[in-house]
Amino acid sequence: MNGPEYPPITEERKKRIDTLYESYSVVADDAYVYVCDLRHDYSRWNPELVRYFDMPGEYMYNAAGIWSSKIHPDDKSIYDSNLERIFHGNITNCDFTYRVMDRRQRYSVVAVKGTVLLDADGMRCYFIGIIKPNRLKNDRDNFTGLRNQYGFFEDLVKIIENKKESNIIMMGISRFGQINEIYGYDFGNRVLLEISKLLRNNVTDNGSLADVYRLDGARFALVTDKFSMDILEKSYNWIQSLLLGDFKVNGRRLSLKLNGGGISVNNFDISDKTVYSCLSYAYHVSKNERKGELTIFKNDLDGTDLQRLEKIDRIRESINSGCKGFELFYQPIMFADSETLKGAEALIRYTDDTYGIVPPDHFIPIIENDRLFPDTLGRWILKTAMGQGKEFLDKYPDFRLNVNLSYAQLERADFADIVLGMLEDTGFPGENLCLEITERCRLVDMRHIKNVMIKLREKGVFFALDDFGTGFSSMNILKSLPLDTIKIDRGFVLNVDKDEKEQKLVSYFTSIASLFGSDVCVEGIETSDMKETVRRFPVNSLQGYYYSKPVSYDIFLKTYCI
Ligand code: C2E
Ligand code: MG
Ligand code: MG
Repeated sequence: MNGPEYPPITEERKKRIDTLYESYSVVADDAYVYVCDLRHDYSRWNPELVRYFDMPGEYMYNAAGIWSSKIHPDDKSIYDSNLERIFHGNITNCDFTYRVMDRRQRYSVVAVKGTVLLDADGMRCYFIGIIKPNRLKNDRDNFTGLRNQYGFFEDLVKIIENKKESNIIMMGISRFGQINEIYGYDFGNRVLLEISKLLRNNVTDNGSLADVYRLDGARFALVTDKFSMDILEKSYNWIQSLLLGDFKVNGRRLSLKLNGGGISVNNFDISDKTVYSCLSYAYHVSKNERKGELTIFKNDLDGTDLQRLEKIDRIRESINSGCKGFELFYQPIMFADSETLKGAEALIRYTDDTYGIVPPDHFIPIIENDRLFPDTLGRWILKTAMGQGKEFLDKYPDFRLNVNLSYAQLERADFADIVLGMLEDTGFPGENLCLEITERCRLVDMRHIKNVMIKLREKGVFFALDDFGTGFSSMNILKSLPLDTIKIDRGFVLNVDKDEKEQKLVSYFTSIASLFGSDVCVEGIETSDMKETVRRFPVNSLQGYYYSKPVSYDIFLKTYCI
C-alpha cells in the first residue's frame, strides 16, 4: 500500500517515528497521538484512533488519503485548506475541527492540534497530530447538559432517514454578548442555564412536547415529531414574552429579546445541511427584519421560488462538487462623464438542467447562512473573478473589477489573508479590485471589518457600499468605514427622469457621499433619459441595462476587450 510518489520508509526512519510517537504520547497525557513521516508518507497512529475510525492499522502509508476519504463533505474544504497550509504554506501549527466518519458510520467531531517538525535544513519532515478523546464523543453541551449542535445534526439526519415528519424551531437571544460584557461571563452562563431550564421544563412539558438542543452561543432548538408548528409557535410566543418582561436570574430582572425561525421537515430528499440553512435563514429574517416574530420557512417568506428546498439542496450539492454549474457574468460600469468603460461588476449565475438559470437572489440569502458559502462558493467567486479579470487588464490597465461579498465571508477572522493569498496566487493587482459590501455587513463587528479594510487597502483594494439607502444602517456604516464608493440602489432611480423626488434623493445621496469623501455610482440606468438626468449630479459612474445587461465572460471579452 505504498503511496505512489514516496520512497518506501527505511528501518532507521521507522525507528525515528516510533521514538517521536512515544515521546509525544507521554507528554500528551490522555490525548491520542499520530505521527507522520512526510518524506515517506508513512505514519504511526494510536490504536484507539485506529479502532474508533476503522483505520487499516497502527502503521500505514497514505494515512492522509485514507483519513481524508472519511471526512464529512461539508468539512472537506476546511480540512483541505488547512492541510495545504501545513504542508505547503508557511505555518507549522494548526488547531482545527471537522467531522470524520467513525466505525459506526456516524460522524464524530474531531479537534486536532497539530505541529510540523522541520529538519536542520528547514524542510518539513514530520507532522504530529494530537486528538483529545473527549472531543470525540462531543454531542452534548457540557454546560447545560443539552444535546449540542452535533447532537442536533445527528438527530436531524435520523429524522430525514426515517422520514419522520417533524417541526423545528431555532431560537436565540439578541445581543447576548452585551450581557457577558456588562455582568461578566459567570452571569452570562447562569442566564443560559436558566433559559435551558425554562425550555426544558415549560416547553417540553416533562419531555413530551419537544426535544431541546443548545446550538452555538445563545441559540437553542426545539424539535418535535408529535406537535404541530402552531403549538410550537404558541410556546415560542409564551417564552418570548416571559424573557422580555419577567425573567429573573440571581435576583436580577432582565429583558431579553428572543428571535426565532421555524421549518417543517416533510420533504426527505434533502440533506440535513439544507434544512439547517433554511432554518438559519428564517431565524435571520426574524432577527433582522421581523423584530423577533417567529418566521416559518416555506409558508411565510416572500416569493415562491425562494422556498424550494430541493433547489437549495441541489445548489449545495453543486457547491460541494467543485462549484459545478456556477458562472460569473460581468456587467460594465461606465464613467459618468466620458461614458467610457471604468470596469465591471462580477455577478454570479447558477445553471442547471432542471431549474435553468437561477438568479443569485434566489440562493445567496439562504446559502450565506451556511459555512459552505464563505468556505467554498465565496472563495470560488473571488478566485474566478480575479483569474478572469486579469484578461481585462491587457486592454484596460486601470480596469476596476467589482466583486460582491457576503457578510459571512467578511466575518471570518482570516478573510483579509484569504484575499491577499488570492491576489498573490492569481497575480491580480489589488488596485484593480473593488469589494462591494452591503448593509447586511452591519451584522459583523465593525472593528473587524475596519481592520480587514485597512489590511487590504495597503494592497490598493477599494471598497464600495452596495445598495446604499435600502437598509436602516447605511449612514452608520458610511460613518464607521472608509468607503471609496457608494452605489445608489436602482430602487431610488426607477423614474428619476420624471420624478422630482427621486432627483432630490440623488442630490441628497451625492452630498452625503462627498461629505464622507466617497464616489457615487448609480445602478439601474435603463434609458438615455435616466442617464442624462443622473449626470446632472456629481456622480462618478453609472451601471445599468442602458449600457449592458450582465453578460458571460466570453461575451464580455469579445465585446470590450478586442
Ligand atoms: P447587486 O450587487 O446590487 O447587483 C446589481 C443587480 O442589479 C444585478 O442583479 C444586476 O443584474 C441588476 N441590474 C443591473 N442593472 C440593472 C438595470 O438596469 N435594471 C434592472 N432591472 N436590474 C439591473 P443580479 O445579478 O440578479 O444580482 C442580484 C444581487 O445578488 C446582487 O445585487 C448581489 O447583491 C447578489 N449577488 C450577485 N452576485 C453575487 C456574488 O458573487 N456574491 C454575493 N455575495 N452576492 C452576489
Ligand atoms: Mg453589487
Ligand atoms: Mg446593488
